Parts: sequence; structure tokens; C-alpha cells
Amino acid sequence: MGNIKVVKFGGTSVADANQFRKVKAIVEADKNRRYVVVSAPGKRHSDDNKVTDLLYLCHAHIKYSVPFDQVFDIISERYLEIVRELKIDLDIQPYLDEVKSRITKNVSIDYLASRGEYLNGLIMAKFLNYEFIDAKEIIFFNNNGSIDWDRTQEILSKKLSENHRAVIPGFYGCNTDGKVKIFSRGGSDITGAILARVAKAQIYENWTDVSGFLMSDPRIVDDPKPIERITYSELRELSYMGASVLHEEAIFPVREVGIPINIRNTNEPDNPGTIITDDIRLKEGDNIVTGIAGKKDFTVIAIHKNHMNSEVGFIRKILSVLEMNNITIEHIPSGIDTVSIVIANSQLENKLNIIIEEINNKCNPDTINVHTNMALVATVGKNMVYTPGIAAKLFTALGEAGINIRMIDQGSSEMNIITGIEDKDLEKAIRAIYNAFVM
Ligand code: ASP
Repeated sequence: MGNIKVVKFGGTSVADANQFRKVKAIVEADKNRRYVVVSAPGKRHSDDNKVTDLLYLCHAHIKYSVPFDQVFDIISERYLEIVRELKIDLDIQPYLDEVKSRITKNVSIDYLASRGEYLNGLIMAKFLNYEFIDAKEIIFFNNNGSIDWDRTQEILSKKLSENHRAVIPGFYGCNTDGKVKIFSRGGSDITGAILARVAKAQIYENWTDVSGFLMSDPRIVDDPKPIERITYSELRELSYMGASVLHEEAIFPVREVGIPINIRNTNEPDNPGTIITDDIRLKEGDNIVTGIAGKKDFTVIAIHKNHMNSEVGFIRKILSVLEMNNITIEHIPSGIDTVSIVIANSQLENKLNIIIEEINNKCNPDTINVHTNMALVATVGKNMVYTPGIAAKLFTALGEAGINIRMIDQGSSEMNIITGIEDKDLEKAIRAIYNAFVM
């Protein structure tokens, strides 16, 4: 199919008429931008509402038999205003009426929540003079909620070959029973990825309100450098630690077939943003570290027992205690006589004392030390593995900043060094590492 670009615009990029105009300028600037996926209108300013949230609110009203007209009017007005201001030759009112008429006590949340994208897609298609393709007719789910790739591939590719340019609403598809089914929140990113894969796009452009990823959190580091290129794996390590721009599941459909994702900013279209791809070779002058991120509120349970490593099943016993208490684990760095279990505080609730007691009973360790209020910092870079002296540089930077390191863990890919420090030192640690590697 040639040089197709699939472009997806997130909620803030399609929040009002002015944003629609920016989208049009972007789409028209490149004739390869043939398939456009849109979210529902997002926030226009910080205390505005997202249409999807309002639709969920509508559903809650109906469930408790509270009149929903007022909320629905706010939703309707968002669309009416866009059409009015853009002077689009489309009467959106009958579509709004149709949605409203289907809102009864038994209306499915999936149907209702998906209308945010559906209505926006209709308007965008008209505005761009593109075909409108309803996502329910081209994206199919299996019973277990995964994508039915065979069916989607067959029907979607046929549709695309019939429609040279089209707008597709994000966030939903069709269930095995023929009804609308939505993805999890933020799922329009997945719709874009599916489209890109089936269209065999050269690139999947994901237009949002930030110019790609930064090497660190701008609330912590002054004016951090942008990340021009990042691998999918690095991105996973970094987004696990902090704010993520892209829905996690949007990565797999395109990664498998080698289509890069380009994160771009609708409000700053000249900024090249960040390219996510696996095809990155180390070049002279490349940064060794790709990004630094951190997260607070972990607990480390450090267990010490002499000759632990020669005792069969020791770690299994510890893990079984956590399993019985339904707790997931973040990291398990271990030494010859020690093992540390790192757990998010949100997992622990009030279970810490019980767990310690059970580990004591089952494993009979020499000591157990618990460090609460721990933060984890991830220093991520695929190039770290080829570069000697990284760990020394990292620990020196933290040492010089007077930060006490409680735990170190390096994933087996050697792409990520995790350090455990006290919560109160998180910001200082991130700045110290950034300055050591980037400045
Ligand atoms: N509108 C949906 C949400 O707010 C989906 C999306 O924007 O990707 O979650």
C-alpha cells in the first residue's frame, strides 16, 4: 500500500473547533496521512471535563435512576459547538438524538462510552472530507477480550482498499455477539496501532499534547532534553516507573511488524517528537542513558540467612507467603546470604506484620529488616550495556549528593539499573543522575 501514515489524535487534540483546525492542517500537510483515528473531545483547559468521563457519568445517573438530561446536554453542546464554529455541513442533532433515545436502564456502558469517539469521528470525517468508517465494522474482539486478528485483518484490509482516505473513531470495536465493545481507558491508541498494522503503514503517528518524551520529569529536572529515539523495551521500563503518554497495549501490534511510532504534538507540529522503534544503532555521540524515572512508596523486606543459597526452596517459601497473601512483587535482588523483596505499599495495605510473621515461621531466617518509604529510580539506556563504568558513575553521583542507596537491581537485559533510596531523596537522586549523564 505504499507510504501510508496512520495518524491518531488524542482527546486534547480534538477538544474544540480550534483543535480541529490544527488537525486539518496537519493532515493536509502530508498526503500520506490517509487514515485518521480520533479520540472523544478531551479537556479544553485544566478544569474542563472529558466527554468520555461525562458519558460514564451519564451511565451512573441512569443506573441509579437519576435524571441524566443535564449531563447529556453538556455533552451535546460540545459537539454542536464544534460543528457550528467550523461551519460544517453536517446536522449532528439526529445522531445525538439517536444516542439519547438508546439510553435506557439497560444501555451498555460500552455502547455509551464509545459514542464520544463515534460522534467525533463523524464530524472529523466531514471536516476533512474523508470517508467515515465505524470501528464496529472493522475491529473484532474474541470472547476473551483479545483482538480477533484473522477477522479484523480480513475485513479491515478490504475496507481500507476500498477507502483511500478515512476517519475511524478510536476506543472500540465489535464483540462476538455483534455489540460494541470498548478497550480500556486511553484505548484509541490501540485502535491506531491496529490500523497501522493492517494498513502496513510506514509509520504510526500518535498526536497528543506533548512533544514526545523527555529524558526526565520536567517537574524535577529543569528543562530536560527530549528523547529523539527510544526502543520499545526502554519505553516499557520508563513508563512502568512514571507518567506514560501511550497506552501500553498500543505497542505490541506495531512492534511485531516493525512499524515505528512517532509521538507528536498537535500544538507544536514542527517539533519532530519522539520515535519509538527497535531499529536503533548506537552512533557516536549518542546518549548512554535514554531516560531517568522514579516512583515513591515502596517497602523493602530484606531477609538474611547464612548459607541461604545452599538451602533448597528458600526463595520459593518466601514467595509462597506473598502469593498466599495475594501480593505482587516488583523486584527481588539477591546476594549469597540475603534476598530483598520490593513491594509497592499499595499492595501491602495492613498485611506487613502478618507477612513478616509468616516468613519467620516458614523460612526461619537470621534477620528480617523492613525499610518502608522507599523510592525506586530507574536509569534506563540500551547503550549502557556496551559502556563500561556506568554503575560506578551512577553510584558516585548518588554518593556525592549524599544519598544512601538501600538496594540495587539490574535487570538481566542490563538496560535498566534500579536503585532503591528513601522517598525523601527521590527528586535529589533523579537530578544527580541526570546531571552526571546528561549535562
Ligand atoms: N476517550 C477514551 C478515554 O478517555 C479513549 C481515548 O481517548 O483513547 O479513555
